[in-house]
Amino acid sequence: MCRFVPGWRNFKIREIMKEYSILILLIVLILSACTDNVKFQKTDDVRIEYSKCTSCLECVEDFHCPYDAIKIDYDTGKAYIDADHCTQCLDCMTEFQCDYDAFTTIKDSETPAVIDSFNAVSDSTGKLEISFIAVGDDGTWGQAHHYTLDLFDAGNNIDYDFTLPIPQKTGEQENWTILNLPVNVLITINLKVFDEAKNFSEQVRK
Ligand code: SF4
Ligand code: SF4
Repeated sequence: MCRFVPGWRNFKIREIMKEYSILILLIVLILSACTDNVKFQKTDDVRIEYSKCTSCLECVEDFHCPYDAIKIDYDTGKAYIDADHCTQCLDCMTEFQCDYDAFTTIKDSETPAVIDSFNAVSDSTGKLEISFIAVGDDGTWGQAHHYTLDLFDAGNNIDYDFTLPIPQKTGEQENWTILNLPVNVLITINLKVFDEAKNFSEQVRK
């Protein structure tokens, strides 16, 4: 009789494994979900709030990031953190104090406001005048980071010779003049306003 015991034991172990396999799977899933949450929190990157930065450049000249991650954006004159170099050591927040409180780890998920004052007028010479009131980084607060402008004629992209300016501060007037566009065609205008975290709002007009 005793020689049947090992087989019986194997059978019982298999039964127990079968019975509890769903529970084991659930525990593994819960543990991996917790791990994912921790990873997610750790990737909350330190960044420089574009709208608060005054271009004083003390963070570049007086504080020296050990990983050379704080850089100057020569288009805007403001400081930014190069994500490819930053290790998230947080020295720039613990060993340095930006006078304008521009360093933050709070995620920016708010888009610039939608432009509600948009106006576009074209004439028979191929001139297009666009005007609107600048919106901000977060809604109507702050200063947006950059614009993109696409012009289409019957779905085809139109090339134009115009350098988009750095956005004005919120509430200020933007006036753009684009020349040498095709005449007697219906032009679709697609203007996007971005903040430094790549959130954007969109304005489309024909
Ligand atoms: S982040 Fe702060 S210290 Fe650095 S340039 Fe901007 S305002 Fe100056
Ligand atoms: S978190 Fe560390 S590596 Fe990143 S910018 Fe600040 S000091 Fe440099």
